[in-house]
Amino acid sequence: MSLQTKYLLSESQMPKFWYNIQADLPAAAPAVLHPGTMQPVGPGDLAPLFPMALIMQEVSTEREIEIPEPVRDVYRAWRPAPLYRAHRLERALGTPAKIFYKYEGVSPAGSHKPNTAVAQAFYNHDAGIRRLTTETGAGQWGTALSYAGALFGLHVDVYQVRVSFDQKPYRRAVMETYGARCVASPSNETVYGRSVLAKTPNHPGSLGIAISEAVEMAVQREDTKYALGSVLNHVLLHQTIIGLEAMEQMQMADAWPDVVVACAGGGSNFAGIAFPFMGQALRGGQKSRIVAVEPAACPSLTRGRYAYDFGDTGRMTPLSKMHTLGSQFTPPSFHAGGLRYHGMAPLVSHCKQLGLLEAVAYNQVECFEAGVLFARNEGIVPAPEANHAVKGAIEEALRCKREGKGETILFNLSGHGHFDMVAYQKYFAGELSDEQYDEKELAMALAGLPSVPETA
Ligand SMILES: *Cc1c(COP(=O)(O)O)cnc(C)c1O
Repeated sequence: MSLQTKYLLSESQMPKFWYNIQADLPAAAPAVLHPGTMQPVGPGDLAPLFPMALIMQEVSTEREIEIPEPVRDVYRAWRPAPLYRAHRLERALGTPAKIFYKYEGVSPAGSHKPNTAVAQAFYNHDAGIRRLTTETGAGQWGTALSYAGALFGLHVDVYQVRVSFDQKPYRRAVMETYGARCVASPSNETVYGRSVLAKTPNHPGSLGIAISEAVEMAVQREDTKYALGSVLNHVLLHQTIIGLEAMEQMQMADAWPDVVVACAGGGSNFAGIAFPFMGQALRGGQKSRIVAVEPAACPSLTRGRYAYDFGDTGRMTPLSKMHTLGSQFTPPSFHAGGLRYHGMAPLVSHCKQLGLLEAVAYNQVECFEAGVLFARNEGIVPAPEANHAVKGAIEEALRCKREGKGETILFNLSGHGHFDMVAYQKYFAGELSDEQYDEKELAMALAGLPSVPETA
């Protein structure tokens, strides 16, 4: 038997529509609220931040939303993305389970993030916008949006979390290669950044702070909008191309997943692979278990509260109901920077409340251990974020081994780790430790959640 099996779709088989799970949910997700009035926000409230086409996608309940041809044309550079059977990993684990993985690291930016970056750049360009502002933590989102901005002639300002700005100079160099401007956040460019620096001059930054800065800059200019790399409904929608392709490819493999696994930071790559499978089950089709894997140091789904909260630390965004650690919570610094966000996508949170998915949390050292085992068998070095999905899939495969079950496992390998080799070096030097969040800080952040009337 060959140990190398990959399932490829032709370009003509690339999906023509994204899948909107809002069409199939048994109950609608709670409304997004205006923090001043506590009333549901209307499209007009979001207009300073996003072009109308994206706002309409945010609230759409249409099941299929057409992928514009210019977006499909860019997608063709790396899509359809390959699906692999992890024969060698199965053998190393001695599991009767079949393990498949969808590989999103083949995009120019090395992760799933261009799936939405390209779409967002297209809709902004189409609406006559000239500039985009955004935040980036580890740098993957900033890289993806810089790439997309270059293709559609948009100037991109990236507020990059200070620690990663300092520790990941190569990420910044890639963004600048695509023509973007990177600013370490907190910065002196915004009122909010200056207020943070006045209190804490050496502040390491956080995604929540960088979002506040990017939002503040976007609302000041007519020709500028803001782009978010995860969390929002339209972002999750764009990522569903991952799961839609994977469904076709699982059929090619004559298999169907008993369990679908993905890592979850803001929830976009998780939703991308899982929502199409969940939708199939919601419409009465075959059912798969769905598992979200998050870092134990920033465990919004497993330890957070399901409550209304701000999306940013400066409290400028609308209020969304989500699993949150509190917008004032600063996660400890660990290497999966893309998973260091205080909240979980409202749609993913809502699905958790509906019992449509399970969540588990793992520490970073055990996730690197899983990633290294994966690399030594499958050849791809996963991003530290993706190591969480690898760990989740391996745990499922080992359960199958204990139970003597030949189940089929599908996981999303959201990106490669070529810009994260310092983290791997630290792992090999034994210098990587399991960061713990501060229980007191979490309690304080949760106590500081905005109070929202019960009726909301
Ligand atoms: C950003 C990122 C993540 C986490 O973001 P989600 O929105 O939760 O998907 C995961 N993996 C990679 C490779 C990333 O770049």
